[in-house]
Amino acid sequence: VPVQTDLAVRLDAARDRIATAAQRAGRDPAAVRLVAVTKTFAVAAAQAVHDLGVRDIGESRVQEAALKVAELPGDVRWHLIGHLQTNKVSRAAPLFAVVHSVDSDRIAAGLSARRPEDMPALEVLVEAELTGIAGHTGVAVEAVEAVARAVLELPRLRLRGLMTMAPPVPEPEQARPTFARLRELRDDLQQRLGVALPELSMGMSNDYEVAVEEGATIVRLGRALFGERPPRGA
Ligand SMILES: *Cc1c(COP(=O)(O)O)cnc(C)c1O
Repeated sequence: VPVQTDLAVRLDAARDRIATAAQRAGRDPAAVRLVAVTKTFAVAAAQAVHDLGVRDIGESRVQEAALKVAELPGDVRWHLIGHLQTNKVSRAAPLFAVVHSVDSDRIAAGLSARRPEDMPALEVLVEAELTGIAGHTGVAVEAVEAVARAVLELPRLRLRGLMTMAPPVPEPEQARPTFARLRELRDDLQQRLGVALPELSMGMSNDYEVAVEEGATIVRLGRALFGERPPRGA
């Protein structure tokens, strides 16, 4: 019971902070969707957040997501936020409502080919790599347009916008230029492609308020809701 109470308090606090940040920027708080990131946490964490009314849940790994999908009600919109490996594409295609981490035309083509006909088109975001940090996932800025164009050609995918991860910085304010950059990239891409790209998935537990000020429509919160993550494999 205390765990559930804690979660409820943290969820309320996060929603308040999102709303306040949106208002500071003159935005409608209802335009920001909270995705609860349950990676590494037990199925019970996903169930608890679902009990509190959250219907958008994010996972980094396909296998771990599949376990939780099987246990939770069918009304969850599952978000894949982690890098997708080629050999997991066929498993991922029917599992998720939104894939935030499309980072190549090859992955996009695989997802489209494997998306079941009886499901709605898979919503996708192209993950842009804006930090220049070696080993970071995502598409380099120069290649984002090409991947976006590839997605637009695929019948079973629906391009919704862009996603990014800010660099790990001590002060959230230091992440602001990255978020502003993603918004500018999106604005530019909309012009060039002539399509609406409404979604900006940016902001995590340590920097989501700044992300909302810079236009995030989706924030991805793990630790802010569930506390520190146990190390992988622990
Ligand atoms: C883990 C993860 C998150 C959530 O991170 P927190 O710091 O726990 O909020 C968000 N986005 C991605 C891509 C992640 O891998």
